[in-house]
Amino acid sequence: MRNRQIITLLLIASLILLSACTSSTVEEQKVPEPQQVEESSETEKVKDETTDIVIVGGGGAGMAAAIEATEGGAKVILVEKLPFLGGTTILASTAYNAGGSSVQMAMEKPYTADDFYAKIVKGKTDENGSIRRLADMSGETADWLIKMGGDLSKVINGSQHITSDGSAFGVMIASVLINKLNELGIDYRTNAKATEIIMEGDKAVGVKIESPDGNYNIMADAVILATGGFASNPEMVAEYTPQWAGYPSTASVGATGDGIKMAMAVGAAIGNMDSASPQTVAYDTGKGAVSLTNVRYNGAILVNEEAVRFVNELADTASLGAAIKAQTNGHAYLVFDQTSVDNAALMQEYKDRGYFIEANTIEELAAKINLDASTLTKTIETYQGYFDAGEDKEFGRKDSMFSRIDKAPYYASLISPASQTTNGGVMIDDGARALREDGTSIPGLYIGGETANQEGPGLTVAFNIGRLAAKTALADMKLK
Ligand SMILES: Cc1cc2nc3c(=O)[nH]c(=O)nc-3n(C[C@H](O)[C@H](O)[C@H](O)COP(=O)(O)OP(=O)(O)OC[C@H]3O[C@@H](n4cnc5c(N)ncnc54)[C@H](O)[C@@H]3O)c2cc1C
Repeated sequence: MRNRQIITLLLIASLILLSACTSSTVEEQKVPEPQQVEESSETEKVKDETTDIVIVGGGGAGMAAAIEATEGGAKVILVEKLPFLGGTTILASTAYNAGGSSVQMAMEKPYTADDFYAKIVKGKTDENGSIRRLADMSGETADWLIKMGGDLSKVINGSQHITSDGSAFGVMIASVLINKLNELGIDYRTNAKATEIIMEGDKAVGVKIESPDGNYNIMADAVILATGGFASNPEMVAEYTPQWAGYPSTASVGATGDGIKMAMAVGAAIGNMDSASPQTVAYDTGKGAVSLTNVRYNGAILVNEEAVRFVNELADTASLGAAIKAQTNGHAYLVFDQTSVDNAALMQEYKDRGYFIEANTIEELAAKINLDASTLTKTIETYQGYFDAGEDKEFGRKDSMFSRIDKAPYYASLISPASQTTNGGVMIDDGARALREDGTSIPGLYIGGETANQEGPGLTVAFNIGRLAAKTALADMKLK
């Protein structure tokens, strides 16, 4: 019952976030109104507090860090600036990627941490071994999430743990983490925005908090910044990832780079800031952009205004985003059939929300989206040949072909790229300690999740680097 209530609340929160997440400027984004609170009188000042570890940001990284730290024996306060927990994590639609989890090792062909490493290191150098570290941690964290009640029982494409009924991953996992915070009695506060790191000499010793009750300080032995990325900060997007400037954001409205800016203000170095994983298939609902990545993974092909395919639909997001941007009008259509809709609960939900254009035949679909019918028919017939042969001779698509695109009704959705996940951030060492430009660490300051400069799938980075930050903080505090 309690689970159901939390999931309902999270669904509402994610819908608010979705409708707030598309505007091209921060000013235009409507941050949900904070809950009504009585104004505190002038004399009633909120008191400063002390704890072992203060964690800034209530998304996947922050919640994972809070659970890890509490179970390790620390007293924790977690602060979240929005009126609800979840961050971009709650919006994650598809999968937790890993290698070597118990589910993967029990598969007919086991999928190991090495397999996952090979997948995520492709095209990158991994000079400091951080991608290797992430791959090695990922399987154990899948098991940690499962133990907590996470539904990660189904694996597709080797690395992707998805929900058993294909429903949104983020809503499921956020509810599991919130349940655990409640079970452990963790002190988490919403509408509590961290504005500054408090330093004593060269050590981080707390954070300044702005809240509707008044401003106060939380003093702590360790500060973990887990404020997500900066995809919803148009100025930072324009400065660091100008290739996606002007496109909407599908990330949480809270993803404004606060942790990166706070860490920089106390001397932390940043790196890899121009590296972003754009959202490749953002659908404009009229009220905001939503990610239709799930549609890609459920068998859709992408065609341009000329009604032809132009890319492997499952290519890495940066090259896929660039390929769409290069097409006529900088957009494309997802084209698929009823098989794809039948394949996952989320697909049916998208259909119900009106994100898809529907037609009984390919010709009728082409007419509805103003594409040349004979070219679209030929494109689909060619793809059917690849499906039958199990090999996409044009673009090398191997996984998630799923559908032959031959079961009416047929569907299309107009999409464009968007800002989504930013990979660059605060430089960290192998224990997620914040680093200065000279490579030394800032005592007491740790970075979790997308706030860190860490390559890898967003949720994998969130949960693993969140946990790592907490473990290191505990070890540094000699609590472990
Ligand atoms: C539409 C969409 C779909 C995605 N799907 C997937 C997927 O299927 N698989 C995958 O691996 N990745 C996916 N990602 C990426 C992934 O969701 C994110 O990279 C990941 O959730 C980031 O987690 P985080 O904890 O670092 O940040 P977040 O979850 O964003 O949490 C950060 C929190 O910090 C809060 N905060 C910010 N500033 C402050 C402050 N000053 N004070 C207090 N609180 C603050 C924010 O409000 C937010 O709640 C997707 C992203 C999007 C946008």
